[in-house]
Amino acid sequence: MSIAERAARERLIANAAAVVERCRKCAIGSTRTNSVYGEGDPCATLMVVGEGPGETEDKLGRPFVGRAGELLDKMLLAIDLPRETVFICNTVKCRPTFDDGSRLRNRAPGPTEMANCRPYLDEQIEIVRPRVILALGAPAAKSFLGPAFSITKQRGQWYPGPNGIPLIASFHPAYILRQTGGELNASKRLVWNDLKAVRTRLDELAAAPETSGPIEQTDLFSL
Ligand code: URA
Repeated sequence: MSIAERAARERLIANAAAVVERCRKCAIGSTRTNSVYGEGDPCATLMVVGEGPGETEDKLGRPFVGRAGELLDKMLLAIDLPRETVFICNTVKCRPTFDDGSRLRNRAPGPTEMANCRPYLDEQIEIVRPRVILALGAPAAKSFLGPAFSITKQRGQWYPGPNGIPLIASFHPAYILRQTGGELNASKRLVWNDLKAVRTRLDELAAAPETSGPIEQTDLFSL
């Protein structure tokens, strides 16, 4: 990857994040503290897509930085992918909440929120051009693979994702954190298998040549 190509992608990411910051398509655009665009290597081979920002992410404006994020970091490291080497984002860029009377609590993103945010996710995929996408949890998996997708039955298999990019779904780290005893061990084992499949696929693809050209050729001249 050339320095110019990397710089072009960094600029595209920064511009796109600024657009998201101004977005008010959904009500959660006004209740959030910070938008959480996503972060990581703009030239990453792996893109991790979660559900949506939680309380800690909303506070810090960064994806997966709470307890689930700590586990995600460990999961990625287990397959030799330190967090900063991948690109991490979510199906929605603002924290979905409901008011329980005393405070705002997390909730799953709604279909309209996911649809409103989808162009931002598609644009991230266009810019980063990952070789593999890992969808974490049912909402992220369904957003790519349709509402009938079953995370328990269909995780760990490869599907053609956006632009034909190989996509695999696994359990969300927050789900693993909710398990105990034998179920905890079983879910960890399944996720470990999925992570190994990601590692193997990336290694196979690394041996194959990159087919796409540089991004936004004209943009490179304004460096
Ligand atoms: N859960 C998600 O799905 N995304 C985050 O960024 C944090 C927690």
